[in-house]
Amino acid sequence: MSEFGTPYWWEDGAQLPDLPEKPPAKAEVLIIGGGYTGLSAAITAKRAGANVVVIDAIVPGKGASTRNGGMCGAHARVAVGALEKSFGRDTAIALLNEAPKAFAYTRGFIQDEGIACDFEQNGRVVLANTRKQYQGLTALAKTLHDLAGYDMRDVPKADLGAHTSSNAYQGAVFYPDHGGLQPRKFHDGMMAIALREGITVVQNCPVLAVQGREGAFQVETAQGTVAADKVIFATNGYTRKPFNWLAKRVFPLPSFIIATEQLPPELIARLAPGRRMMVEARIKHSYYRVSPDGTRIIFGGRAGMVPYGPEFAARRLRATMLNVWPELEKVKITHSWRGYTGFTFEQVPHVGLHKGAHFALGYSGSGVALAPYLGMKAAYQALGDVRGETAYSRSTPTTRIFYQGGYPKFLIPAELWYRQVVDRFEAWQAARDQ
Ligand SMILES: Cc1cc2nc3c(=O)[nH]c(=O)nc-3n(C[C@H](O)[C@H](O)[C@H](O)COP(=O)(O)OP(=O)(O)OC[C@H]3O[C@@H](n4cnc5c(N)ncnc54)[C@H](O)[C@@H]3O)c2cc1C
Repeated sequence: MSEFGTPYWWEDGAQLPDLPEKPPAKAEVLIIGGGYTGLSAAITAKRAGANVVVIDAIVPGKGASTRNGGMCGAHARVAVGALEKSFGRDTAIALLNEAPKAFAYTRGFIQDEGIACDFEQNGRVVLANTRKQYQGLTALAKTLHDLAGYDMRDVPKADLGAHTSSNAYQGAVFYPDHGGLQPRKFHDGMMAIALREGITVVQNCPVLAVQGREGAFQVETAQGTVAADKVIFATNGYTRKPFNWLAKRVFPLPSFIIATEQLPPELIARLAPGRRMMVEARIKHSYYRVSPDGTRIIFGGRAGMVPYGPEFAARRLRATMLNVWPELEKVKITHSWRGYTGFTFEQVPHVGLHKGAHFALGYSGSGVALAPYLGMKAAYQALGDVRGETAYSRSTPTTRIFYQGGYPKFLIPAELWYRQVVDRFEAWQAARDQ
């Protein structure tokens, strides 16, 4: 266990640029947060002719954007019925139809800009641990196909060997369009474009307050005040007080990943033929893949809903991985890390406006394709450009009476409930279906 706490992806990143830590006194468009959302918004606004400043509290990218699993695809995270309940049928259908456009946008951006981030369109399999989950997945695939033309293929248990050697599953659906990338290299590529375009990116400079109104904001930072015409929040799972209105609507949920030591190519080829992005349908949801260089298994999941340390999380994730592939018993875990996803209560991201400041956030664990796309939308909205129109702006994210922002204490009982009751019940169902 060598690199605990540090993402595997950081071993293969560009040298970090020497960024200023003090912002300029003025900006036309000031963006808070320098992950995929913030940099995409910045590049869009700059190319539309604006003077743009991005400010990040830490080294830009060291939020979720260089810590994620690199699974790139946009699809419905929640059941179609839940989308309809939250937003009404028309908006639900519009969201379902727009998600593939987000993926196409991000893929096109990577290709058009020539970003070397190991992007591979090798598809995603969503795996069912129980027969009931499999029925649910095939029904969802049919609905998504009928409502929005999704290309999703049914994979019965007998055909699973084309995607995984694991015996843990009862079937799957396959999204051939989806792909994977190396998250740090993607962020490095976006940063290189931003700097080349002449965007000022400021690091280690927390934004402390935003006062005023559109056209005349005073943005107070740890290193001085900036006068800005437009402000865009791109803070996702790192949104905190004093930005209470947003912080009450997007809560931080930790997600954890481990990487194995390097494995022989024949073992990798047997475990994961086709090198798909693999995502489980069960509540104790794991997501895993082969590293872009084809040597390791990168295994992510819900080691817990609270921010456990890397050693503890690694033990839990390793146990789940062995449940999928018992033959990895002797394999060493070399990396274990976590980051914060930003969940909305609807589990759908939003692009919107509050007190004159724009925001794009709430990717709920699926932002690799959506964050660049919605960052672009937020920038166009800030500039009053019709290209900013999106179904992700048709609603306002909601909050709950029991959440005031900050640490989501409601996750502690949720963690107990899922671990003691739901996970056990699902494990019992999975064992019964074997
Ligand atoms: C472990 C993990 C695995 C994931 N796996 C996947 C995956 O496989 N596929 C997928 O699609 N998505 C995945 N995600 C989600 C995805 O990474 C995010 O949705 C995406 O990176 C969000 O980008 P962002 O730019 O909006 O936010 P971030 O990259 O989190 O950036 C937000 C930035 O805002 C800054 N900030 C916050 N407050 C302030 C302030 N007051 N002043 C200045 N700066 C501030 C933070 O410092 C941070 O740098 C995963 C996330 C995690 C954590």
